[in-house]
Amino acid sequence: MTAPSYDVIIIGGGIVGAACAAECVREGLRVAIVEAKMIGGGATAAGMGHLVVMDDSDAQFALTRYSQLLWEEVRDELPREVEYDPCGTIWVAADEEEMREVSRKQAFYSERGVEVEVLDAQSVAEAEPNLRAGLVGGLRVPGDSVIYPPCAAQFFVNRAVARGAHVFLGKAVQEITADGVRLRDGSTISAGVVVNAAGSWSPSLMARLNVKKRKGHLVITDRYPRFLRHQLVELGYLKSAHSLTADSVAFNIQPRKTGQLLIGSSRQYDVDDSAIDASLLSRMLARALEYLPGLGRLSSLRAWTGFRAATPDKLPLIGPDTENERLYLATGHEGLGITTSLGTARLLVDQILNRTSAIPVGPYLPSRVTGEMVHV
Ligand SMILES: Cc1cc2nc3c(=O)[nH]c(=O)nc-3n(C[C@H](O)[C@H](O)[C@H](O)COP(=O)(O)OP(=O)(O)OC[C@H]3O[C@@H](n4cnc5c(N)ncnc54)[C@H](O)[C@@H]3O)c2cc1C
Repeated sequence: MTAPSYDVIIIGGGIVGAACAAECVREGLRVAIVEAKMIGGGATAAGMGHLVVMDDSDAQFALTRYSQLLWEEVRDELPREVEYDPCGTIWVAADEEEMREVSRKQAFYSERGVEVEVLDAQSVAEAEPNLRAGLVGGLRVPGDSVIYPPCAAQFFVNRAVARGAHVFLGKAVQEITADGVRLRDGSTISAGVVVNAAGSWSPSLMARLNVKKRKGHLVITDRYPRFLRHQLVELGYLKSAHSLTADSVAFNIQPRKTGQLLIGSSRQYDVDDSAIDASLLSRMLARALEYLPGLGRLSSLRAWTGFRAATPDKLPLIGPDTENERLYLATGHEGLGITTSLGTARLLVDQILNRTSAIPVGPYLPSRVTGEMVHV
């Protein structure tokens, strides 16, 4: 059976596919979303939902900042269940070396128009009284915020559907064909453009794609309103996020609008098994306790894992495939896909429509990545 044809088929109804669908429809394109399981049920449900401006590279900054401004544009339209919370981030400095990183970050952000505030030992303690004594300071980024990602994905899908998109829910794409996709049930859907937005599953549809799974653990507590006010991240996070070793943990904690605390995070390569790794989880919680000793008195409700889709240079793949001109990629967002979904959607649609984008697209083009690039 062949379904009616579309301008664009989007494979994957995570936050990235959902944002791309809403953006395509906004531009008048006829869109089909094909989602194997449920909207926002992949990494989007597993992630933290921290909308954060990052500065690992100019390209990462450009995409996170652009995306953050797009989230600000849409924030008043987000339904209550998206739990948008402009709580800001504090990057916590434990020693003088990390305080030097605060100065570097402060200069980087300020030069680029992002509001930041350097905190000394006393002001970091006042800002977050449950942090342990003896920390050296921190950097507050008030423009960062938090959302509940699966509901945001559903919001963008609903928006796309309200403007004419079709959703093929519970339908897995088996194969990307010359004129569309073939589903696992044998039916086909045709379109001028196919977008692979299947996150960490994207290589299952394109074996040559150099995207690897990077596993993460999270824990959520019971409700403790006012225990925290900001998302807190240790400055050592950057060292561990780029660790060359297989496993790393870092202190990263988020106050939810429900009063719960979401505790992260860990990173593991070359692990396909979604089971909780008890020893890594203990290391992660021990790290959190080092910063917030009072956590030990609180009850946790649940722990889970998820898979980030990692590229060798830690930037997403956004734009045309190098071998099939009808195929576009919107994948490889590693630990920033919630934040960068909206920027990704704009850049993707600009390329489909052959328009110039608000930020240079070169760093994210799939053509930059060759098969030989290795993951570090
Ligand atoms: C522990 C952890 C913490 C994180 N914290 C943050 C954070 O604080 N901030 C942030 O910005 N990002 C964070 N991230 C990253 C973020 O969650 C991801 O980058 C983002 O969710 C990726 O979205 P996606 O739509 O690309 O992928 P997914 O949400 O995984 O969606 C892909 C979808 O494709 C579907 N699919 C797969 N194969 C097929 C097929 N063959 N046919 C049809 N459908 C298919 C899947 O069912 C799935 O729904 C975190 C990730 C993890 C794991």
